[in-house]
Amino acid sequence: MSEQRLRIAIQKSGRLSDGSFDLLKSCGLSVSRGRDKLYGRVQEMPIDILLLRDDDIPEFVADDACDIGIIGQNVFEEEILNESHEAPAEEVMKLGFAHCRLMLAAPKEWCFDGSLMLEGKRIATSYPALTRAWLARQGVNAKVVMMKGSVEVAPRLKIADAVCDIVSTGATLDANGLKPVATVFESEAVLIRNRQEFSPEKQAMFEALLKRIKGVMTSKD
Ligand code: ATP
Ligand code: ZN
Repeated sequence: MSEQRLRIAIQKSGRLSDGSFDLLKSCGLSVSRGRDKLYGRVQEMPIDILLLRDDDIPEFVADDACDIGIIGQNVFEEEILNESHEAPAEEVMKLGFAHCRLMLAAPKEWCFDGSLMLEGKRIATSYPALTRAWLARQGVNAKVVMMKGSVEVAPRLKIADAVCDIVSTGATLDANGLKPVATVFESEAVLIRNRQEFSPEKQAMFEALLKRIKGVMTSKD
Protein backbone atom coordinates (compact mmCIF):
# COMPACT_ATOMS: atom_id res chain seq x y z
CA MET A 1 0.00 0.00 0.00
CA SER A 2 1.44 3.38 -0.94
CA GLU A 3 2.38 5.88 1.76
CA GLN A 4 0.25 8.45 0.03
CA ARG A 5 -3.07 6.66 0.17
CA LEU A 6 -5.48 7.69 2.93
CA ARG A 7 -6.42 4.60 4.93
CA ILE A 8 -9.90 4.63 6.47
CA ALA A 9 -11.05 1.99 8.98
CA ILE A 10 -14.75 1.22 9.24
CA GLN A 11 -16.80 -1.58 10.83
CA LYS A 12 -17.15 -4.56 8.50
CA SER A 13 -20.66 -5.47 9.60
CA GLY A 14 -22.74 -4.30 12.52
CA ARG A 15 -24.57 -1.28 13.79
CA LEU A 16 -22.02 1.22 12.49
CA SER A 17 -21.63 -0.30 9.03
CA ASP A 18 -24.63 1.01 7.10
CA GLY A 19 -24.12 4.55 8.41
CA SER A 20 -20.40 4.42 7.62
CA PHE A 21 -20.85 3.08 4.07
CA ASP A 22 -23.69 5.56 3.47
CA LEU A 23 -21.60 8.49 4.68
CA LEU A 24 -18.68 7.55 2.44
CA LYS A 25 -21.04 7.07 -0.47
CA SER A 26 -22.61 10.49 0.09
CA CYS A 27 -19.05 11.87 -0.03
CA GLY A 28 -18.64 10.32 -3.47
CA LEU A 29 -16.62 7.28 -2.35
CA SER A 30 -18.26 4.08 -3.46
CA VAL A 31 -16.85 1.06 -1.69
CA SER A 32 -17.79 -2.47 -2.57
CA ARG A 33 -18.98 -4.56 0.41
CA GLY A 34 -17.48 -7.95 -0.28
CA ARG A 35 -18.25 -10.62 2.28
CA ASP A 36 -14.80 -11.81 3.23
CA LYS A 37 -12.86 -8.79 2.13
CA LEU A 38 -10.57 -6.87 4.46
CA TYR A 39 -9.84 -4.12 1.96
CA GLY A 40 -12.06 -1.95 -0.15
CA ARG A 41 -10.51 0.34 -2.69
CA VAL A 42 -12.14 3.55 -3.72
CA GLN A 43 -12.08 3.98 -7.45
CA GLU A 44 -10.05 6.82 -8.89
CA MET A 45 -9.11 8.18 -5.47
CA PRO A 46 -6.00 7.48 -3.39
CA ILE A 47 -8.06 5.94 -0.58
CA ASP A 48 -8.08 2.45 0.95
CA ILE A 49 -10.87 1.23 3.19
CA LEU A 50 -10.15 -1.35 5.89
CA LEU A 51 -13.11 -3.41 7.08
CA LEU A 52 -12.64 -4.38 10.72
CA ARG A 53 -14.40 -5.33 13.92
CA ASP A 54 -15.38 -2.08 15.58
CA ASP A 55 -13.37 -2.83 18.75
CA ASP A 56 -10.14 -2.98 16.72
CA ILE A 57 -10.62 0.40 15.05
CA PRO A 58 -9.27 2.74 17.81
CA GLU A 59 -6.10 0.68 18.15
CA PHE A 60 -5.54 0.42 14.39
CA VAL A 61 -5.84 4.20 14.11
CA ALA A 62 -3.71 4.89 17.20
CA ASP A 63 -1.00 2.50 16.01
CA ASP A 64 -0.87 4.09 12.55
CA ALA A 65 -2.15 0.98 10.75
CA CYS A 66 -4.90 3.33 9.54
CA ASP A 67 -5.04 7.12 9.25
CA ILE A 68 -8.66 7.69 10.18
CA GLY A 69 -11.61 5.62 11.35
CA ILE A 70 -15.31 5.68 12.17
CA ILE A 71 -16.18 4.35 15.62
CA GLY A 72 -18.83 4.59 18.35
CA GLN A 73 -17.88 7.27 20.87
CA ASN A 74 -18.66 4.75 23.63
CA VAL A 75 -15.89 2.42 22.40
CA PHE A 76 -13.46 5.28 21.73
CA GLU A 77 -13.92 6.94 25.15
CA GLU A 78 -13.58 3.58 26.89
CA GLU A 79 -10.28 3.10 25.02
CA ILE A 80 -9.08 6.63 25.89
CA LEU A 81 -9.79 6.03 29.59
CA ASN A 82 -7.78 2.80 29.37
CA GLU A 83 -5.08 4.57 27.36
CA SER A 84 -1.79 2.80 26.92
CA HIS A 85 -0.74 3.95 23.44
CA GLU A 86 2.14 6.28 22.75
CA ALA A 87 0.41 8.05 19.90
CA PRO A 88 -3.28 7.85 20.69
CA ALA A 89 -5.94 8.70 18.20
CA GLU A 90 -8.03 11.85 18.56
CA GLU A 91 -11.66 12.63 17.84
CA VAL A 92 -12.13 14.88 14.81
CA MET A 93 -15.91 15.24 14.66
CA LYS A 94 -19.25 13.71 15.54
CA LEU A 95 -21.03 12.07 12.62
CA GLY A 96 -24.69 12.18 13.62
CA PHE A 97 -25.57 8.48 13.33
CA ALA A 98 -25.53 5.33 15.52
CA HIS A 99 -26.91 7.26 18.46
CA CYS A 100 -27.22 5.18 21.61
CA ARG A 101 -26.92 5.48 25.37
CA LEU A 102 -24.84 3.65 27.93
CA MET A 103 -27.31 3.27 30.78
CA LEU A 104 -27.33 2.03 34.32
CA ALA A 105 -30.16 -0.50 34.63
CA ALA A 106 -31.52 -2.04 37.81
CA PRO A 107 -34.02 -4.81 38.65
CA LYS A 108 -37.59 -3.60 38.06
CA GLU A 109 -38.50 -4.18 41.69
CA TRP A 110 -35.89 -1.70 42.92
CA CYS A 111 -37.39 1.58 43.97
CA PHE A 112 -34.46 3.53 42.54
CA ASP A 113 -34.05 6.89 44.23
CA GLY A 114 -30.62 7.96 43.05
CA SER A 115 -27.11 6.69 42.44
CA LEU A 116 -26.32 6.32 46.16
CA MET A 117 -28.48 3.20 46.05
CA LEU A 118 -25.58 1.59 44.16
CA GLU A 119 -23.18 1.93 47.11
CA GLY A 120 -21.50 -1.44 47.72
CA LYS A 121 -23.37 -3.08 44.83
CA ARG A 122 -21.89 -5.06 41.90
CA ILE A 123 -22.42 -3.67 38.41
CA ALA A 124 -21.85 -5.81 35.29
CA THR A 125 -20.71 -4.00 32.13
CA SER A 126 -18.66 -4.23 28.93
CA TYR A 127 -17.57 -0.62 29.61
CA PRO A 128 -15.73 -0.76 32.97
CA ALA A 129 -13.79 2.49 32.50
CA LEU A 130 -16.82 4.61 31.52
CA THR A 131 -18.81 3.01 34.34
CA ARG A 132 -16.09 3.64 36.94
CA ALA A 133 -15.70 7.25 35.79
CA TRP A 134 -19.44 7.81 36.18
CA LEU A 135 -19.53 6.13 39.62
CA ALA A 136 -16.63 8.35 40.72
CA ARG A 137 -18.51 11.47 39.56
CA GLN A 138 -21.50 10.30 41.58
CA GLY A 139 -19.29 9.69 44.62
CA VAL A 140 -20.40 6.05 44.78
CA ASN A 141 -18.27 3.02 45.68
CA ALA A 142 -19.45 -0.01 43.72
CA LYS A 143 -17.74 -3.08 42.31
CA VAL A 144 -17.54 -3.19 38.53
CA VAL A 145 -17.72 -6.67 36.98
CA MET A 146 -16.43 -6.86 33.40
CA MET A 147 -18.48 -8.94 30.94
CA LYS A 148 -17.80 -9.09 27.18
CA GLY A 149 -21.41 -9.79 26.25
CA SER A 150 -24.90 -10.76 27.51
CA VAL A 151 -24.49 -8.25 30.32
CA GLU A 152 -28.25 -8.10 30.91
CA VAL A 153 -28.37 -11.67 32.26
CA ALA A 154 -25.89 -10.91 35.08
CA PRO A 155 -28.47 -10.01 37.77
CA ARG A 156 -30.49 -13.18 37.09
CA LEU A 157 -27.32 -15.24 37.40
CA LYS A 158 -26.45 -13.35 40.63
CA ILE A 159 -23.16 -12.25 39.09
CA ALA A 160 -24.16 -8.63 39.66
CA ASP A 161 -26.92 -6.53 41.25
CA ALA A 162 -27.28 -4.07 38.36
CA VAL A 163 -25.87 -3.54 34.86
CA CYS A 164 -24.45 -0.72 32.76
CA ASP A 165 -25.18 -1.39 29.10
CA ILE A 166 -25.95 0.15 25.70
CA VAL A 167 -29.68 0.73 25.41
CA SER A 168 -31.74 1.76 22.41
CA THR A 169 -35.34 0.56 22.88
CA GLY A 170 -35.03 -0.98 26.33
CA ALA A 171 -36.71 -4.20 25.12
CA THR A 172 -33.74 -6.41 26.04
CA LEU A 173 -33.58 -4.96 29.54
CA ASP A 174 -37.33 -5.40 29.97
CA ALA A 175 -37.14 -9.05 28.89
CA ASN A 176 -34.53 -9.59 31.61
CA GLY A 177 -36.50 -7.92 34.40
CA LEU A 178 -34.44 -4.71 34.31
CA LYS A 179 -35.26 -1.04 33.90
CA PRO A 180 -32.97 1.85 32.87
CA VAL A 181 -32.42 4.25 35.78
CA ALA A 182 -29.61 6.63 34.75
CA THR A 183 -27.70 7.70 31.64
CA VAL A 184 -23.97 7.14 32.01
CA PHE A 185 -22.83 8.16 28.50
CA GLU A 186 -24.53 9.49 25.34
CA SER A 187 -22.90 8.17 22.19
CA GLU A 188 -22.90 8.52 18.42
CA ALA A 189 -20.48 7.61 15.63
CA VAL A 190 -17.35 9.76 15.53
CA LEU A 191 -14.49 10.28 13.09
CA ILE A 192 -11.09 9.68 14.68
CA ARG A 193 -7.59 10.25 13.31
CA ASN A 194 -4.04 9.28 14.04
CA ARG A 195 -2.25 12.13 15.82
CA GLN A 196 0.86 12.03 13.64
CA GLU A 197 1.27 14.56 10.88
CA PHE A 198 0.08 13.29 7.48
CA SER A 199 2.17 13.65 4.32
CA PRO A 200 1.09 16.70 2.25
CA GLU A 201 -0.79 14.46 -0.23
CA LYS A 202 -2.56 12.60 2.54
CA GLN A 203 -3.37 15.82 4.40
CA ALA A 204 -4.92 17.26 1.22
CA MET A 205 -7.03 14.12 0.75
CA PHE A 206 -8.07 14.21 4.43
CA GLU A 207 -9.10 17.86 4.24
CA ALA A 208 -11.06 17.27 1.03
CA LEU A 209 -12.87 14.37 2.68
CA LEU A 210 -13.63 16.39 5.83
CA LYS A 211 -15.07 19.16 3.73
CA ARG A 212 -17.34 16.68 1.96
CA ILE A 213 -18.44 15.10 5.26
CA LYS A 214 -19.31 18.53 6.65
CA GLY A 215 -21.21 19.31 3.46
CA VAL A 216 -23.19 16.06 3.69
CA MET A 217 -23.98 16.70 7.35
CA THR A 218 -25.21 20.28 6.87
CA SER A 219 -27.39 19.22 3.94
CA LYS A 220 -29.07 16.72 6.31
CA ASP A 221 -29.86 19.33 9.02
P1 ATP B 1 -18.20 -6.16 15.94
O1 ATP B 1 -18.51 -7.51 15.39
O2 ATP B 1 -17.71 -5.22 14.88
O3 ATP B 1 -17.28 -6.20 17.15
P2 ATP B 1 -20.28 -5.38 17.88
O4 ATP B 1 -21.30 -6.44 18.04
O5 ATP B 1 -19.26 -5.14 18.93
O6 ATP B 1 -19.60 -5.52 16.43
P3 ATP B 1 -22.41 -3.53 17.21
O7 ATP B 1 -23.52 -4.15 17.95
O8 ATP B 1 -22.41 -3.60 15.73
O9 ATP B 1 -20.97 -3.97 17.74
O10 ATP B 1 -22.37 -2.00 17.69
C1 ATP B 1 -21.38 -1.12 17.25
C2 ATP B 1 -21.65 0.26 17.82
O11 ATP B 1 -22.90 0.75 17.36
C3 ATP B 1 -21.77 0.35 19.34
O12 ATP B 1 -20.50 0.38 19.97
C4 ATP B 1 -22.52 1.67 19.49
O13 ATP B 1 -21.62 2.76 19.37
C5 ATP B 1 -23.43 1.70 18.28
N1 ATP B 1 -24.86 1.39 18.56
C6 ATP B 1 -25.89 2.10 18.08
N2 ATP B 1 -27.06 1.59 18.49
C7 ATP B 1 -26.80 0.55 19.25
C8 ATP B 1 -27.61 -0.38 19.95
N3 ATP B 1 -28.94 -0.33 19.94
N4 ATP B 1 -27.00 -1.36 20.62
C9 ATP B 1 -25.66 -1.45 20.61
N5 ATP B 1 -24.85 -0.59 19.97
C10 ATP B 1 -25.39 0.41 19.29
ZN1 ZN C 1 -17.42 -4.99 18.72
